[in-house]
Amino acid sequence: MERRTRTTAVPLLLAALALIGASCHAIVDLPLPAGAVLTTPRAQYRMWWELASQCAGVSRSFDAVQWYVVPGAGSIPTSEGDLDGAYYRVENRIVLAERVIDTGRVVRHEMLHALLRVADAHPATYFQRRCAGIVSCDGPCARETDPAPVDAAAPRVAPSALSLNLALVPASGALHESNGWYVALVSVTNPRATAVRVALPPKGVGQYLSFAYGDDCGSSTLLAASETIDLAPGETRAHAFDHRWCGAAGELVASGAVGGDSTPVRRWPIQP
Ligand SMILES: [Zn+2]
Repeated sequence: MERRTRTTAVPLLLAALALIGASCHAIVDLPLPAGAVLTTPRAQYRMWWELASQCAGVSRSFDAVQWYVVPGAGSIPTSEGDLDGAYYRVENRIVLAERVIDTGRVVRHEMLHALLRVADAHPATYFQRRCAGIVSCDGPCARETDPAPVDAAAPRVAPSALSLNLALVPASGALHESNGWYVALVSVTNPRATAVRVALPPKGVGQYLSFAYGDDCGSSTLLAASETIDLAPGETRAHAFDHRWCGAAGELVASGAVGGDSTPVRRWPIQP
């Protein structure tokens, strides 16, 4: 979320705190958006929470979060403009516009706020590195600077020269707890002890072929604005493709790709 907080402190107190160099945190949340109603988290949210927890390396209680939805809303008006969702730190509340309640990357963005217990900032280490491709990062999030400098002298390599992987979440293929939702994670890992720049082939003007995924239920391809994926030694970059199972019990046959280079074809048993 991208909301500013306010305090109930009087200006005199604020001035005093500023003088002694103290920082102060909001002790109350802003009011919830008009029309927001308390709701039960959707079946797939617990799985999405685990995914965000893993990329962040942070563990917190999913059940401690209160969920709100604004019925019929395409976005939520905030001081930062119209947003898909918002996080209220003091009460540990996530509010979503109804339009995005099944949009995994957007929901996980708000989850990452809740996991980090940060409402007003988007630490680039988490939103743009560790959980890039797992959570959305547009608008105010994208404007926060990535602290890791790009090593422009690092060698450019083809994706196939690195380790490409495809994983299914949940790995068991048992989808009854997530109401049929699953996540395909396509990833590229730099196993080297030095940084590399993964070269992506051009695909139209100013666009480059990035992560892709396909299975029996559908396929999608991500086009990136950057011609490289920059990886530090040992770093992994992943992209999450959210799908909902389209058939009866059986087998999921799937493959992913990075920059046009394919992962091995994977097969998982599926129990919807
Ligand atoms: Zn945010």
